[in-house]
Amino acid sequence: MAIIDGKALAAKMQADLAKKTAKLKEESGVVPGLVVILIGEDAASQVYVRNKERSALAAGFNSQVIRLPEATSQDQLLKLIEQYNQDPAWHGILVQLPLPEHIDEEKVLFAISPDKDVDGFHPTNMGKFWSGHPVMIPSTPAGIMEMFKEYKVDLTGKNALVIGRSNIVGKPMAQLLLDAHATVTIAHSRTKNLAALAHRADVLVVAIGRGNFVTKDFVKPGAVVIDVGMNRDENGKLIGDVAFDEVAPVASLITPVPGGVGPMTITMLMEQTYEAALRNT
Ligand code: NAP
Repeated sequence: MAIIDGKALAAKMQADLAKKTAKLKEESGVVPGLVVILIGEDAASQVYVRNKERSALAAGFNSQVIRLPEATSQDQLLKLIEQYNQDPAWHGILVQLPLPEHIDEEKVLFAISPDKDVDGFHPTNMGKFWSGHPVMIPSTPAGIMEMFKEYKVDLTGKNALVIGRSNIVGKPMAQLLLDAHATVTIAHSRTKNLAALAHRADVLVVAIGRGNFVTKDFVKPGAVVIDVGMNRDENGKLIGDVAFDEVAPVASLITPVPGGVGPMTITMLMEQTYEAALRNT
């Protein structure tokens, strides 16, 4: 068994990104700009936003975090997004989820210009992605594909199972695996005999949101196991969806939590902001 070190790969990619950014600035005067909008006081969101800001600054980007009160109206938010859509200094706009209940998430995400939609949630970007012409794609599965590349996981003809079917992780992950010529199955909460199905997978990507859900009975010996889950146990410790201690000895490669998928997600967000800036030069 070997551990996929997402933290180390992310650090390497971030260092390369800082060099590319400096070069872009020197050659064309363009500095990638990322604006993050955070509404309310959600503790986890505050941490994610701080990490994104830190990564953007480390890459040499212009970074702006706009923190707005919980009571911010949908109209106010839409107007703010439009202002940044029009401002050429900002290449990426990100609205941190979840949003307060009185705001329609879809309306907000669809209001972000597809050219600045670094999360890849706009239907224009989703359509391009699903039809084989990706421009901006969701960062978490994009980061997982980088891990496969780094660790030389050949996906061609492999049985891949993705557990979870969210628009943010599960579905785009399945699409990327398919594009990489894996034979892909998507499982979800209504799937029958999940452990037996998982046991046939050469590559298992788990994005459920239930701590330690995937035990060793789910895992074929030698499988590659990617754990997207981020959950808190009863002591507040961050844990994944995979019971790492018992699954790791069975797997050939496995991501830890923390230090696996999480750092790569942020790195891919920065990469997409850089690419958006590059397209604008
Ligand atoms: P989500 O929107 O809640 O989707 C969860 C998916 O898991 C759903 O498709 C659901 O099925 C499925 N599911 C739930 N219980 C199941 C069960 N018992 N058996 C099989 N499938 C089950 O969550 P998400 O946004 O995709 O996130 C998933 C996890 O990844 C969360 O822990 C989240 O915090 C984490 N995450 C981490 C990163 C990162 O960067 N590391 C990024 C994004 C998300 P149904 O569709 O049938 O309900």
